[in-house]
Amino acid sequence: MSAKRTKYLFTTGGVVSSIGKGLASASIGALLEARGLRVTFVKLDPYINVDPGTMSPYQHGEVYVTDDGAETDLDLGHYERFTVARLTRANNLTTGKIYQSVISKERRGEYLGATVQVIPHITDEIKSRLVEATEGVDVAIVEIGGTVGDIESLPFLEAVRQLKLELGVGNALSIHVTLVPWIGAAGELKTKPTQHSVKELREIGIQPDVLICRTEKPLSRSIKEKISLFSNVPAELVISAPDVDCIYALPETLHEQGIDELLCDRLNIWSRLPDLGPWKHIVERFLRPTQGTVRIAVVGKYVHLKDSYKSLHESLVHGAIDNDVRIDFQYVDSEALERDDAAKTLGDVDAILVPGGFGERGTEGKIAAIRYAREKGVPFFGICLGMQLAVVEFARHVAGIANANSAEFDPSAPAVIDLMPEQRNLRDKGATMRLGAYPCTLAPDTLAAQAYGSTEISERHRHRYEVNNDFRDQLVAKGLVLSGTSPDKRLVEMIELRNHPYFVGCQFHPELKSRPMAAHPLFTRFVRAALERARARTRSAVETSPVAHA
Ligand code: GLN
Repeated sequence: MSAKRTKYLFTTGGVVSSIGKGLASASIGALLEARGLRVTFVKLDPYINVDPGTMSPYQHGEVYVTDDGAETDLDLGHYERFTVARLTRANNLTTGKIYQSVISKERRGEYLGATVQVIPHITDEIKSRLVEATEGVDVAIVEIGGTVGDIESLPFLEAVRQLKLELGVGNALSIHVTLVPWIGAAGELKTKPTQHSVKELREIGIQPDVLICRTEKPLSRSIKEKISLFSNVPAELVISAPDVDCIYALPETLHEQGIDELLCDRLNIWSRLPDLGPWKHIVERFLRPTQGTVRIAVVGKYVHLKDSYKSLHESLVHGAIDNDVRIDFQYVDSEALERDDAAKTLGDVDAILVPGGFGERGTEGKIAAIRYAREKGVPFFGICLGMQLAVVEFARHVAGIANANSAEFDPSAPAVIDLMPEQRNLRDKGATMRLGAYPCTLAPDTLAAQAYGSTEISERHRHRYEVNNDFRDQLVAKGLVLSGTSPDKRLVEMIELRNHPYFVGCQFHPELKSRPMAAHPLFTRFVRAALERARARTRSAVETSPVAHA
């Protein structure tokens, strides 16, 4: 018997970008998984960068890192958060990657004298990589980045068109995500942009099988029928995806309209009814937590663009769900903290998180926030650059190493954070950082070991600089606890402080592995520390209030 064949769902987007294709794809994956199916995902990105690692967060948002060290699109984060699929570098293809490999094959003479062209050579490369990345699962969800009509995405769409034909009826479906805007002046939902977008898709030979319509208000039956008439998609496959307060409500919203059953039906897949109990529980906890609210400050450079801290934000939400609290997020611009008094900005927060980052701008503001957290006993969590700056702050103000800094920012200062020898002579910027999963050993009797409930862990990295071993003894003598190191002890992976309610830093990115139903322990513990502080503050406010004393 031949191996089981993978079935495909191809997701495209129309009308506007950032329409939520990634979340829609991830939610469909979650529903199929809840029906007992094995799913995987591929994201096709039309830009010419080989990967998003060299792009600014302002251009691209977060760079999501996989276990095997690929720097990928943030949609892979959605896929991993919504399902148990574990993705690798094979699950994110870019135009740059495809051309790079076609051009190297051409240089090696592998095309045997042929003129190398978009069709068939580029499209064949896309198809073969897609098939390779999706072997062995029941359903592969392939999302094409950008918007239908972009010049850049044409080769990907053409490859999808060919593959759909080759796979045959019942083996592949096309899902088109569009916008149905509400025009207040007319008091109406407008279907014209969707009609045009479907027309454009059909012009390149792809008839959508399902439409997911992003809207402010649910689509009525008559609107669905109108869209159906113009788009040639049956009305029951015109699905509304209204804005949701909680992204984890999306699987249920789609399920209520029967999407998973309809997809399975058209893909000829027999599967059980899904149990959405765990998703409902998450949404209920998110919307109606019983333990109150904690205020958490995230002090960073990219706070104006929420996409740069996507996984981080979600991980805090997971930690909040786990503790049954709501987070009042305060995104604080670290540059502003260089001018303002930390006590004024951070005086009423229950915890402070300093995330990862690159470049000097705003670093002194982050250091001011860390100093405030350390001195005032405010729960602190430093991730990657956040941990490095916590070491700098400790070196300057506790260990007495004047002007201590990271070599990334001041090459002439005492570099408590520095490049490892293997990073010194690198000239390429792309994919040359310490990337992906590395093991870490935790010291027993530390907050870290307690949180993980284990002393052997593995976490994902994305950085060039490390704690400088020349300063280790000096820092440790002054009380810095090196709670995690590489198994050979050469690299510092985690730090913490005693005599502080909660002060933890890690060189890796735990936010890349947190899930709504399995919050990362470092986030759970951090939010719990914030909750304890919030409770203590309420108690002391009650005790000191005139009413309480009366
Ligand atoms: N810029 C620092 C480094 O390269 C930290 C990186 C990060 O926070 N991801 O080491």
